[in-house]
Amino acid sequence: MTGSVTWPLTKGERERDQLTHALLDLVERGLRTKCQGPSVDYLWLSEDQEERDLASRLCEGCPVLRACFTSATKSGATFGVFGGHDFTTMARPEESDH
Ligand code: SF4
Repeated sequence: MTGSVTWPLTKGERERDQLTHALLDLVERGLRTKCQGPSVDYLWLSEDQEERDLASRLCEGCPVLRACFTSATKSGATFGVFGGHDFTTMARPEESDH
């Protein structure tokens, strides 16, 4: 059998690849994102709402913010902060009162 094999892309795979390339580009330039900082990296996937809110603010100005947000959106992220947005779908206490 001849011909090229094309693998079906999984949900958000293309966007994850684009983000990976953007992150590798940063590394080549000796840079890294704030979420890669060893003293604060836990904030982005914290179960604590206030810590995730802080992570969202720390994303501001990230050089890969748009790619990060798009990747998380296309991948269907449901927990954690990506691209300055908290994708956690757990209802906040104040939201469940309505
Ligand atoms: S935008 Fe994405 S890569 Fe940048 S700091 Fe936020 S979570 Fe990290």
